[in-house]
Amino acid sequence: MSCIIDVHTHHISLAENSGKAIVSLSMSEESFRSSLSVCLKNHIPVSVGLHPWGVEADWQSFMNDELRVLLSSRQVLAVGEAGLDKIRGGLWEWQLAAFRTQIELAEEVGKPLLIHCVKAIDEIIHLRRGYSPNVPWIIHGFRGKKEQAIQLIEKGFYLSFGEYYHEEALQVCPTDRLLMETDESPIDIHALYVRAAQIKEMDVEAFRNQIKRTVGELFPSFL
Ligand SMILES: [Zn+2]
Repeated sequence: MSCIIDVHTHHISLAENSGKAIVSLSMSEESFRSSLSVCLKNHIPVSVGLHPWGVEADWQSFMNDELRVLLSSRQVLAVGEAGLDKIRGGLWEWQLAAFRTQIELAEEVGKPLLIHCVKAIDEIIHLRRGYSPNVPWIIHGFRGKKEQAIQLIEKGFYLSFGEYYHEEALQVCPTDRLLMETDESPIDIHALYVRAAQIKEMDVEAFRNQIKRTVGELFPSFL
């Protein structure tokens, strides 16, 4: 049986058990340092960024040399989650500035950008057009409709699906642009793969192998 990869979880314990998950750590969280050291010690891959919910007036203090060094390390596979959230989080102008800085950091270190997006897809598309980034941009926890999925795929985005999504959006997402994640949920990633494979009318094993290939391309040091 090939491995089941979870590209985005906030639960270190899940990652410790499966060994095939990327733990998302946000720098503004109180537990950031202790979580980071647990992950580093146990060789658990991570993504590091400043979540839009944690963007405050002092957001710039996180974007320091220490972050640059950290992002350059082998165990940090991606920048993020970072992004824009119109429902929750810091002032819009802070969010935008913090996101722009992280877009630039991802380019600088040459690692994919994991994007948190709530009601801000037009802004994110606009930013992508402006930056024309070399690194992959992954919309995590994608819950948009089919039309939006098609639009994002056309524009070069990758989509990561979690526990809740529109089945039609998953159906139209090509498997080489598709990732799976558990995010905050304690659900078993295996169950998510089984359901997604059914929706795509694919054999689970073939589906898993395809995602594994995509992950290998996006995060070469992961597998
Ligand atoms: Zn998340």
